[in-house]
Amino acid sequence: MTIPFVDLQAQYRAIKSEIDEAIQRVLDSSAFILGREVEAFESAFAEYVGARFCVGVSNGTAAIQLAVTACGVGPGDEVIVPANTFFATAEAVSTAGARPVFVDCDPASSNLDASGIEAAITERTRAIIPVHLYGQSADLDPIFDLAARRGLVVIEDAAQAHGARYKGRRVGALGRAGCFSFYPGKNLGAYGEGGAVVTNDAEVARRVRLLRDHGSEQKYRHEVIGYNFRLEGLQGAVLGVKLKHLDGWNALRRAHASRYAELLGEVESGGALALPREMPYAEHVYHLYVVRTDARDALQDALREASVQTGIHYPVPVHLQPAYAAHGHQAGDFPEAERQALSVLSLPMFPELTREQIGRVAETIKRSALGSQLSASV
Ligand SMILES: *Cc1c(COP(=O)(O)O)cnc(C)c1O
Repeated sequence: MTIPFVDLQAQYRAIKSEIDEAIQRVLDSSAFILGREVEAFESAFAEYVGARFCVGVSNGTAAIQLAVTACGVGPGDEVIVPANTFFATAEAVSTAGARPVFVDCDPASSNLDASGIEAAITERTRAIIPVHLYGQSADLDPIFDLAARRGLVVIEDAAQAHGARYKGRRVGALGRAGCFSFYPGKNLGAYGEGGAVVTNDAEVARRVRLLRDHGSEQKYRHEVIGYNFRLEGLQGAVLGVKLKHLDGWNALRRAHASRYAELLGEVESGGALALPREMPYAEHVYHLYVVRTDARDALQDALREASVQTGIHYPVPVHLQPAYAAHGHQAGDFPEAERQALSVLSLPMFPELTREQIGRVAETIKRSALGSQLSASV
């Protein structure tokens, strides 16, 4: 029996009646775009993350683009982003007309290394986008201190971190704006595309709301040139149901992570494998359970042979993507991000994962010929 990397069907089966009822409500009302279900979800999600405002948009990439624009950042400006993130973080800066400037990551947390930011700041720098990668908050206080000192805006990319906490507070509402993705596989996922910007700044919220809907708040009156980045009614209804389960699902993810750590601790202390480390300031929600090993490709093959699906997040750091070739970066520019791209492996992680499945993944890692070969230091 295959152990899937994520299992969206198991989750749907568990909440089928609630979901079907919510979808039926949308069909009955024909409120397919924005509308009451989206508004209800926006209020609930704002309250959940502790923000004054939440504006639902068409996806997480659009959320970042609109947050950047709404914070007044655009052509001629530079925005600091991590070199190791999903491509969309940088891409959205580019589509907002600004230039992403890459900074390396911290080896322990895999998140933006605050000590590397200062050197990347120029007179054009306007913003910093820390990413809460894999579901763990970046260390925000040093970033906020630096941003305050240098007059920069902080926009959180919380696309992988719904419900994660930094020093006890939920991420997303801690910077000027926070961006979420509701891509189906995220901790809070729609049944299609979805995203949101949360903020405590009324003006940023107003601008995002304008920009997502053709620059218009009032029908056929267009104040600015915007986009069609609206959230659909069906997604609002699905997200409203799923939000009620999010804390329970995140707790299960955390329990699964502890179980992996228990079972793989032995391999880790042999120096063969690095397990994800929960930083003292963070409550990790394990969107991904990412281990690291120099024998990554061989370990992935061994798991594949045992019908265990895995992923690599991400195999090529953003500064080395063909799309950013014009930036002139080369291998060696951000050594830690590059090292992680070659050594990371994401094990199956989703709330409905069973104890037996976790046991089989861990056994496969321990028993494979690799068990003994996994000796190189990470
Ligand atoms: C998923 C993701 C995005 C983009 O979200 P979409 O909804 O797929 O557009 C942006 N940043 C990070 C870190 C992500 O994981």
